[in-house]
Amino acid sequence: MTNIAIVGAAGRMGKTLIETILNNPHATLTAAVEQPGADAVGADAGELAGVGHLGVSVTDSLEGVMGDFDVLIDFTIAKATEAHVALCASAGKKLIIGTTGLDETQNAQIAEAARQIAIVYAPNYSVGVNATFKLLDVAARIFGDTVDVEITEAHHRHKVDAPSGTALKMGEVIAGALGRDLSDVAVYGREGYTGERDRQTIGFTTIRGGDIIGEHQVMFAGQGERLEITHRAQSRGNFAEGAVRAAVWVSSEAAGLYDMQDVLGLKDM
Ligand code: NAD
Repeated sequence: MTNIAIVGAAGRMGKTLIETILNNPHATLTAAVEQPGADAVGADAGELAGVGHLGVSVTDSLEGVMGDFDVLIDFTIAKATEAHVALCASAGKKLIIGTTGLDETQNAQIAEAARQIAIVYAPNYSVGVNATFKLLDVAARIFGDTVDVEITEAHHRHKVDAPSGTALKMGEVIAGALGRDLSDVAVYGREGYTGERDRQTIGFTTIRGGDIIGEHQVMFAGQGERLEITHRAQSRGNFAEGAVRAAVWVSSEAAGLYDMQDVLGLKDM
Protein backbone atom coordinates (compact mmCIF):
# COMPACT_ATOMS: atom_id res chain seq x y z
CA MET A 1 0.00 0.00 0.00
CA THR A 2 1.43 3.39 -0.99
CA ASN A 3 0.76 6.32 1.37
CA ILE A 4 0.18 9.42 -0.74
CA ALA A 5 0.04 13.15 0.05
CA ILE A 6 -1.59 15.59 -2.37
CA VAL A 7 -0.47 19.19 -2.55
CA GLY A 8 -2.91 21.55 -4.28
CA ALA A 9 -5.72 19.44 -2.80
CA ALA A 10 -8.47 21.96 -3.56
CA GLY A 11 -7.55 22.39 -7.21
CA ARG A 12 -9.34 20.77 -10.18
CA MET A 13 -6.71 18.03 -10.34
CA GLY A 14 -6.31 17.87 -6.53
CA LYS A 15 -9.97 16.99 -5.99
CA THR A 16 -9.95 14.47 -8.85
CA LEU A 17 -6.82 12.87 -7.35
CA ILE A 18 -8.48 12.49 -3.93
CA GLU A 19 -11.36 10.57 -5.55
CA THR A 20 -9.00 8.48 -7.69
CA ILE A 21 -6.87 7.45 -4.68
CA LEU A 22 -10.01 6.44 -2.80
CA ASN A 23 -10.86 4.04 -5.64
CA ASN A 24 -7.33 2.57 -5.96
CA PRO A 25 -6.74 -0.59 -3.86
CA HIS A 26 -2.97 0.00 -3.77
CA ALA A 27 -3.03 3.62 -2.55
CA THR A 28 -4.14 5.50 0.56
CA LEU A 29 -4.48 9.26 1.02
CA THR A 30 -2.59 10.13 4.21
CA ALA A 31 -2.09 13.90 3.83
CA ALA A 32 -3.61 16.81 1.89
CA VAL A 33 -2.07 20.27 1.59
CA GLU A 34 -3.25 23.65 0.28
CA GLN A 35 -1.62 27.07 0.31
CA PRO A 36 -1.91 29.21 3.47
CA GLY A 37 -5.13 31.23 3.43
CA ALA A 38 -6.97 28.85 1.08
CA ASP A 39 -10.64 28.23 2.04
CA ALA A 40 -10.03 24.49 2.04
CA VAL A 41 -7.49 24.55 4.90
CA GLY A 42 -8.98 22.67 7.88
CA ALA A 43 -11.63 20.94 5.75
CA ASP A 44 -11.83 17.16 5.41
CA ALA A 45 -10.15 16.14 2.12
CA GLY A 46 -12.90 13.67 1.23
CA GLU A 47 -15.67 16.18 1.83
CA LEU A 48 -13.72 18.73 -0.22
CA ALA A 49 -13.66 16.28 -3.14
CA GLY A 50 -17.31 15.32 -2.65
CA VAL A 51 -16.56 11.68 -1.82
CA GLY A 52 -17.55 11.65 1.88
CA HIS A 53 -15.58 11.96 5.13
CA LEU A 54 -12.03 10.51 4.91
CA GLY A 55 -10.55 11.68 8.23
CA VAL A 56 -7.68 13.52 6.49
CA SER A 57 -7.67 17.27 7.23
CA VAL A 58 -6.30 19.70 4.66
CA THR A 59 -3.25 21.43 6.15
CA ASP A 60 -1.38 24.54 4.96
CA SER A 61 2.09 23.18 5.77
CA LEU A 62 3.74 20.43 3.75
CA GLU A 63 6.66 20.51 6.19
CA GLY A 64 4.28 19.59 9.03
CA VAL A 65 3.18 16.33 7.32
CA MET A 66 6.49 15.18 5.81
CA GLY A 67 6.49 12.09 8.07
CA ASP A 68 3.00 11.01 7.01
CA PHE A 69 3.50 9.83 3.40
CA ASP A 70 5.72 7.90 0.97
CA VAL A 71 4.95 9.78 -2.25
CA LEU A 72 3.84 13.38 -2.86
CA ILE A 73 1.65 14.19 -5.88
CA ASP A 74 2.00 17.84 -6.94
CA PHE A 75 -0.38 19.49 -9.45
CA THR A 76 -0.04 23.16 -8.41
CA ILE A 77 1.91 26.07 -9.92
CA ALA A 78 5.57 26.24 -10.92
CA LYS A 79 6.77 28.39 -8.01
CA ALA A 80 5.08 26.11 -5.45
CA THR A 81 6.45 22.97 -7.12
CA GLU A 82 9.95 24.45 -6.88
CA ALA A 83 9.60 24.64 -3.06
CA HIS A 84 8.05 21.14 -2.85
CA VAL A 85 10.93 19.60 -4.84
CA ALA A 86 13.46 21.08 -2.38
CA LEU A 87 11.49 19.80 0.64
CA CYS A 88 11.09 16.28 -0.77
CA ALA A 89 14.76 16.06 -1.75
CA SER A 90 15.93 16.98 1.75
CA ALA A 91 13.43 14.61 3.42
CA GLY A 92 14.04 11.72 0.97
CA LYS A 93 10.40 11.61 -0.21
CA LYS A 94 9.36 10.44 -3.67
CA LEU A 95 7.52 12.83 -5.95
CA ILE A 96 5.05 12.89 -8.86
CA ILE A 97 5.11 16.25 -10.65
CA GLY A 98 2.11 17.16 -12.82
CA THR A 99 2.54 20.94 -12.77
CA THR A 100 3.28 22.36 -16.23
CA GLY A 101 4.97 25.58 -17.29
CA LEU A 102 8.21 25.10 -15.32
CA ASP A 103 11.21 27.09 -16.59
CA GLU A 104 14.69 25.81 -17.44
CA THR A 105 16.08 26.55 -13.97
CA GLN A 106 13.22 24.70 -12.31
CA ASN A 107 13.67 21.75 -14.69
CA ALA A 108 17.38 21.68 -13.83
CA GLN A 109 16.49 21.71 -10.10
CA ILE A 110 14.24 18.66 -10.67
CA ALA A 111 17.03 16.81 -12.50
CA GLU A 112 19.42 17.60 -9.64
CA ALA A 113 16.92 16.49 -6.96
CA ALA A 114 16.41 13.22 -8.86
CA ARG A 115 19.99 12.26 -7.93
CA GLN A 116 18.69 11.86 -4.36
CA ILE A 117 15.04 10.84 -4.78
CA ALA A 118 12.81 9.09 -7.35
CA ILE A 119 10.76 11.62 -9.33
CA VAL A 120 8.18 11.06 -12.08
CA TYR A 121 7.77 14.22 -14.16
CA ALA A 122 5.43 14.10 -17.17
CA PRO A 123 3.61 16.79 -19.16
CA ASN A 124 0.71 14.38 -19.73
CA TYR A 125 -0.20 11.57 -17.28
CA SER A 126 -2.94 10.07 -19.46
CA VAL A 127 -2.21 6.36 -19.93
CA GLY A 128 -4.04 6.45 -23.28
CA VAL A 129 -2.01 9.38 -24.62
CA ASN A 130 1.25 7.73 -23.61
CA ALA A 131 0.14 4.46 -25.21
CA THR A 132 -0.74 6.47 -28.34
CA PHE A 133 2.81 7.87 -28.54
CA LYS A 134 4.12 4.29 -28.62
CA LEU A 135 1.56 3.17 -31.23
CA LEU A 136 2.43 6.15 -33.44
CA ASP A 137 6.13 5.32 -33.25
CA VAL A 138 5.43 1.73 -34.32
CA ALA A 139 3.02 2.74 -37.12
CA ALA A 140 5.43 5.35 -38.48
CA ARG A 141 8.28 2.83 -38.57
CA ILE A 142 6.07 0.27 -40.37
CA PHE A 143 4.89 2.74 -43.04
CA GLY A 144 8.12 4.71 -43.44
CA ASP A 145 7.84 7.13 -46.37
CA THR A 146 4.91 5.29 -48.04
CA VAL A 147 2.09 7.38 -46.47
CA ASP A 148 1.04 10.96 -45.78
CA VAL A 149 0.76 11.83 -42.07
CA GLU A 150 -1.96 14.24 -40.90
CA ILE A 151 -2.68 15.13 -37.25
CA THR A 152 -6.04 16.60 -36.21
CA GLU A 153 -6.83 17.81 -32.69
CA ALA A 154 -10.00 19.24 -31.10
CA HIS A 155 -10.35 21.08 -27.77
CA HIS A 156 -12.84 23.28 -25.90
CA ARG A 157 -13.34 26.91 -26.87
CA HIS A 158 -11.30 28.24 -23.88
CA LYS A 159 -7.99 26.72 -24.96
CA VAL A 160 -5.62 29.53 -25.92
CA ASP A 161 -2.76 27.71 -27.70
CA ALA A 162 -2.71 25.69 -30.92
CA PRO A 163 -1.89 23.07 -31.90
CA SER A 164 -2.01 21.36 -28.49
CA GLY A 165 1.24 20.33 -26.80
CA THR A 166 0.10 16.72 -27.13
CA ALA A 167 -0.43 17.08 -30.92
CA LEU A 168 3.05 18.59 -31.24
CA LYS A 169 4.53 15.74 -29.21
CA MET A 170 2.74 13.26 -31.52
CA GLY A 171 4.33 15.05 -34.48
CA GLU A 172 7.76 14.84 -32.78
CA VAL A 173 7.37 11.10 -32.14
CA ILE A 174 6.44 10.44 -35.78
CA ALA A 175 9.11 12.76 -37.18
CA GLY A 176 11.70 11.08 -34.92
CA ALA A 177 10.66 7.61 -36.10
CA LEU A 178 10.93 8.75 -39.74
CA GLY A 179 14.26 10.52 -39.31
CA ARG A 180 12.74 13.95 -39.95
CA ASP A 181 12.97 17.19 -37.95
CA LEU A 182 9.45 18.37 -37.08
CA SER A 183 10.43 22.04 -37.32
CA ASP A 184 11.38 21.44 -41.01
CA VAL A 185 8.33 19.38 -42.03
CA ALA A 186 5.34 20.65 -39.98
CA VAL A 187 2.52 22.34 -41.93
CA TYR A 188 0.04 24.22 -39.73
CA GLY A 189 -3.18 24.56 -41.76
CA ARG A 190 -3.58 25.09 -45.52
CA GLU A 191 -5.33 27.77 -47.56
CA GLY A 192 -5.47 28.89 -51.20
CA TYR A 193 -3.22 27.39 -53.87
CA THR A 194 -1.07 25.02 -51.83
CA GLY A 195 0.40 22.92 -54.62
CA GLU A 196 0.60 19.13 -54.39
CA ARG A 197 1.31 17.62 -51.00
CA ASP A 198 4.95 16.93 -50.17
CA ARG A 199 5.19 13.43 -48.62
CA GLN A 200 7.81 14.57 -46.11
CA THR A 201 5.42 17.07 -44.50
CA ILE A 202 3.37 16.36 -41.36
CA GLY A 203 0.10 18.30 -41.42
CA PHE A 204 -1.72 19.74 -38.38
CA THR A 205 -5.40 20.71 -38.23
CA THR A 206 -6.92 22.41 -35.17
CA ILE A 207 -10.59 22.44 -34.14
CA ARG A 208 -11.82 24.62 -31.24
CA GLY A 209 -15.37 24.42 -29.90
CA GLY A 210 -17.75 23.91 -27.00
CA ASP A 211 -16.57 21.79 -24.09
CA ILE A 212 -14.50 19.16 -25.93
CA ILE A 213 -11.96 17.96 -23.31
CA GLY A 214 -9.39 16.80 -25.85
CA GLU A 215 -9.31 14.66 -28.99
CA HIS A 216 -6.33 13.72 -31.15
CA GLN A 217 -6.40 11.76 -34.38
CA VAL A 218 -3.43 10.78 -36.53
CA MET A 219 -4.04 9.60 -40.09
CA PHE A 220 -1.49 7.56 -42.03
CA ALA A 221 -2.96 7.92 -45.54
CA GLY A 222 -1.58 5.66 -48.25
CA GLN A 223 -2.57 4.30 -51.64
CA GLY A 224 -5.89 2.44 -51.29
CA GLU A 225 -6.01 2.46 -47.47
CA ARG A 226 -5.50 4.59 -44.41
CA LEU A 227 -4.82 3.89 -40.73
CA GLU A 228 -6.27 6.23 -38.09
CA ILE A 229 -5.16 6.26 -34.46
CA THR A 230 -7.48 8.27 -32.20
CA HIS A 231 -7.40 9.24 -28.52
CA ARG A 232 -10.38 10.88 -26.83
CA ALA A 233 -10.17 12.27 -23.27
CA GLN A 234 -13.55 11.96 -21.58
CA SER A 235 -12.70 13.57 -18.21
CA ARG A 236 -9.79 14.89 -16.09
CA GLY A 237 -9.95 11.51 -14.35
CA ASN A 238 -7.59 10.07 -16.95
CA PHE A 239 -4.72 12.33 -15.80
CA ALA A 240 -5.42 11.46 -12.13
CA GLU A 241 -5.53 7.71 -12.90
CA GLY A 242 -2.13 7.97 -14.55
CA ALA A 243 -0.62 10.05 -11.73
CA VAL A 244 -1.81 7.64 -9.02
CA ARG A 245 -0.53 4.70 -11.09
CA ALA A 246 2.83 6.54 -11.27
CA ALA A 247 2.82 7.07 -7.47
CA VAL A 248 2.26 3.37 -6.77
CA TRP A 249 4.95 2.46 -9.35
CA VAL A 250 7.56 4.93 -8.06
CA SER A 251 7.18 3.73 -4.45
CA SER A 252 9.53 0.83 -5.24
CA GLU A 253 11.94 2.69 -7.54
CA ALA A 254 15.44 3.97 -6.77
CA ALA A 255 16.46 7.63 -7.14
CA GLY A 256 16.18 8.91 -10.70
CA LEU A 257 14.11 11.00 -13.09
CA TYR A 258 11.30 9.05 -14.76
CA ASP A 259 8.38 9.79 -17.09
CA MET A 260 5.13 8.00 -17.97
CA GLN A 261 6.88 5.91 -20.64
CA ASP A 262 8.95 4.43 -17.75
CA VAL A 263 5.88 3.93 -15.54
CA LEU A 264 4.07 2.05 -18.32
CA GLY A 265 7.15 0.05 -19.35
CA LEU A 266 6.89 1.40 -22.91
CA LYS A 267 10.62 2.02 -23.37
CA ASP A 268 11.36 -1.73 -23.20
CA MET A 269 8.58 -2.71 -25.62
P1 NAD B 1 -5.96 24.57 -10.21
O1 NAD B 1 -5.67 26.03 -10.26
O2 NAD B 1 -7.39 24.12 -10.23
O3 NAD B 1 -5.29 23.94 -8.88
C1 NAD B 1 -4.01 24.30 -8.39
C2 NAD B 1 -4.09 24.25 -6.87
O4 NAD B 1 -2.78 24.42 -6.33
C3 NAD B 1 -4.98 25.37 -6.27
O5 NAD B 1 -5.95 24.80 -5.43
C4 NAD B 1 -3.98 26.23 -5.51
O6 NAD B 1 -4.52 26.85 -4.35
C5 NAD B 1 -2.92 25.20 -5.15
N1 NAD B 1 -1.63 25.80 -4.78
C6 NAD B 1 -0.99 26.84 -5.36
N2 NAD B 1 0.14 27.15 -4.68
C7 NAD B 1 0.21 26.27 -3.65
C8 NAD B 1 1.14 26.07 -2.59
N3 NAD B 1 2.22 26.85 -2.46
N4 NAD B 1 0.91 25.09 -1.70
C9 NAD B 1 -0.19 24.31 -1.81
N5 NAD B 1 -1.12 24.45 -2.79
C10 NAD B 1 -0.91 25.42 -3.70
O7 NAD B 1 -5.15 23.91 -11.41
P2 NAD B 1 -5.34 22.46 -12.06
O8 NAD B 1 -6.23 22.52 -13.25
O9 NAD B 1 -5.62 21.46 -10.99
O10 NAD B 1 -3.87 22.23 -12.67
C11 NAD B 1 -2.73 22.29 -11.82
C12 NAD B 1 -1.47 22.08 -12.64
O11 NAD B 1 -1.47 20.77 -13.22
C13 NAD B 1 -1.33 23.01 -13.85
O12 NAD B 1 0.04 23.34 -14.01
C14 NAD B 1 -1.82 22.18 -15.03
O13 NAD B 1 -1.30 22.60 -16.27
C15 NAD B 1 -1.26 20.85 -14.63
N6 NAD B 1 -1.91 19.67 -15.27
C16 NAD B 1 -1.08 18.70 -15.72
C17 NAD B 1 -1.60 17.54 -16.26
C18 NAD B 1 -0.64 16.44 -16.65
O14 NAD B 1 -1.10 15.38 -17.14
N7 NAD B 1 0.67 16.60 -16.42
C19 NAD B 1 -2.98 17.37 -16.35
C20 NAD B 1 -3.82 18.39 -15.89
C21 NAD B 1 -3.26 19.55 -15.34
